[in-house]
This record gives sequence, C-alpha cells and structure tokens, in this order.
Amino acid sequence: MIPETVIEKVLRQIDPHAVIDLTARLVRCNSVWDPQAGTGEAETAELAAQWARERGFDVAVENVAPDRPNVIIRWTAGPGPRTLMFEGHTDVVTPGNLSRWRYDPFGAQIEKGRMFGRGTNDTKGNLAAMLVAMAALKTSGVTLAGSIVGGVLCDEEGMMTGVQHFIARGHADAVTAAVVCEPQDGLVCIAQKGAVRARFAVHGRMSHGAMPLSGLNPAPAMARIIDGLAGLEAEAIQTVGKDPLLGWPSFTPTVVQAPSQGPPQLNVVPGEAEILVDVRTIPGQDHDAIRNSLSALAQQTIRDVNASYRQTDRRLGIRRPWELDVIVRFLSDRPCTHTDRGDPVVASAVWASRQVSGREPDFAGVPGATDGTFLWALKDMPIVTMGAGDRQVPHQVNEWVDLDQLVDTARIYALTALHYLYPGDPR
Ligand SMILES: [Zn+2]
Repeated sequence: MIPETVIEKVLRQIDPHAVIDLTARLVRCNSVWDPQAGTGEAETAELAAQWARERGFDVAVENVAPDRPNVIIRWTAGPGPRTLMFEGHTDVVTPGNLSRWRYDPFGAQIEKGRMFGRGTNDTKGNLAAMLVAMAALKTSGVTLAGSIVGGVLCDEEGMMTGVQHFIARGHADAVTAAVVCEPQDGLVCIAQKGAVRARFAVHGRMSHGAMPLSGLNPAPAMARIIDGLAGLEAEAIQTVGKDPLLGWPSFTPTVVQAPSQGPPQLNVVPGEAEILVDVRTIPGQDHDAIRNSLSALAQQTIRDVNASYRQTDRRLGIRRPWELDVIVRFLSDRPCTHTDRGDPVVASAVWASRQVSGREPDFAGVPGATDGTFLWALKDMPIVTMGAGDRQVPHQVNEWVDLDQLVDTARIYALTALHYLYPGDPR
C-alpha cells in the first residue's frame, strides 16, 4: 500500500495551468514534417528539451536525420532495478485544407474546456502531461527506487525512425516498461494490431482500347487479387476469430490503380497496374504465413490469368506471345503487441487510473501501430498505451482535447510511475 500522504505529495505537484500552458506552447510550434515548407520537429523538440533542462533533468538531443531530433530526458530517482519510459512524439500530421478549420490549427485556442489545434489530441497534450508528471515526481521529494526516461521522439507519423534510432543508440536497454502517451480516452490499452503492407504490381501490355488483343489487360489480374484478398480475410476471420481487445483481422486493398503511373485514358489499355494492400493482424496470426499466402496469391493469379488469355487466343485463332506477370513487394511489417494484464506496468496504470478517476479503468486495444510497437518488438518491452483525447479525433480537422481529461492524464502518468517505482512491492 502506498500511503495516502505520499500520493497527495505527488498530486499536489501537478499544476493544471502548467499542463495547459505547456500544451499550448507545443501546439503553437508547427511540427508537420514538410522540408519544402521548412517545418519539422526541431522547434517542438527544443522547447521540450529546454523545459526539462530548466527543471534539472539530464537532457540529450540527438539528430535522427537533419532537423529531426529526438530528445532523451533522464532522471535517476533512486537505486532500483526498474526504469520506466514515457514516450511521446513531437511530429503532427498536416492540418490539410485550412478552410475547413474553425480554428487556427497552430493557435491552441481554448473554448468551453477544450483546446483546439493540430496535435492537441495526437499527441502534444499527452506529451505535456508526461513532462509535467515527470517533473512533479522529481519535485515531490517522494522516495523512489529506479529511473524515469522521457523519450520525446520524432517521425512517429511517418516511418517511426525516431523510436528506431532511440533503440539503436541503446537508450531502451535499461528500460523495463514503457507508457506510450497517445490519445486513448482514458482507456488502458495493452494490445496493438500488427500490420503487413504489400504492393502487387501487375505487368501486362499496353494497347489501344479498340484493339485489346494487341495487349494484355492487367484488369482481370487485379480482379483476382482483390477477390483473393477477400478470401484470405475470410479465412483469417474463420481461423483466428475476433480478438476481445482488437476486433477482427483484415486484408484491405486500399489503393487500386491502373495505370500505375500517368493519366488514365478511356481508350487506352494500361500496361501496368498496382494494388496496395494493408493487412492488419491480431494475436494468433503468423506474419510469415501471411507473406507466403500473398506471394502464393500472386503466383496463382499469374497462372490463372495467363491460362485464361491462352484459352481466348485459341478460341479466336490468334497467338499473343507475351505473359502477364504479377510481382508482390512487402513494404512494411509491424507485429501486433500484447502486454500481459498481470505485468507490473499494467498493474501500475490500472492503479493510477483508479486513484484519479475513482473507478476501474477499461482495457482496450490500439487499432494502429505506435512507437510502442518497436519497443515491444525489438526490446521485448511491456507497454501500456494511454492518454487523453477522443480516439476518433486524431488527424481530423478542428482537432481538440478536453483539458480536464488532460490534467487528469498528467496525474495518472505521475501515479503510474509512483506505483511502478515505489520502493518494495506496492502490490
Ligand atoms: Zn500519435
């Protein structure tokens, strides 16, 4: 049991104005990665680094790529085997069409208890909450056994090079668990879907629309691939079923394009076509097996479509000396993650949520990948994803966060660390 006086000591250090003020300052830095427009994470990272330095943290800034820094904030609270990492990313996605915004996307305007702007929800509000939580523990004077690391990382919305660099530089080596600070509306997320992304390139032969027999139309191959993906999805649903936290697996053709390059024209049979496939996985699915079945689908499509073309040629008494080809390339592979409900970091997150909200939190899963995916996959690290903000709001126009929930999130982060690093065994 952690004494009530100790909990109070920590919570007293969470100043709501500090959370709101830091969120606003972070949101006002446009951190959309857009080299042509001259925007990126550098200004946001420097703000976070300076804020942490002023509070006596050990701060390192490392460039992952030119103008794309990670900030690593360390504090050894006391001797102990555990190190808890808080992870929050500095980049935001584009505001898109500015005329659709009712607010300045980088204005951090507050209205009726909500702050509006790009990143308020995903995830600068939660980044501010984690920084304030770390500082609150530090100033509280409470005795802790272990260390805290803040990973303020770049490029989460892109290729997640920030977290990969953080891991490659050894910063995760001593970390025993991580809290991934993302908008999950107060839910304690202990699972994340995995993803396999692939491109099917269909190589036919271009021809005049009035003389299709002088070419090989890739369209029938595309139809078979799309149909085959639906079959693979149905099979996965049948064999692994529905994950209680993550829902169903899916094999989704997201981009279906012919021609794969250049303008489409009604009277031109395209020579090349492509399909991009976004496979989302749940525990129980084997990514190698998925890759194999996608490759097998390409091979089957080649056989079927060429056989069908040969049959047509025989019937018409012609002979097209070409073969249609399908090449599948894998673009990315991210495993699904699952942290055990009995893991100490999960117990700490649940305890902290209960302390702050007065009720038992709900468990959930994250539909997409986060930086936590790499921490889990490459470092075998237990991860919990939680934070303030409606889960549907990320990447939308008029993005917002509820400020009461955000301040509570800072409290939950602080108490999670208190519980996880409390000397002895608080459980
Ligand atoms: Zn995010």
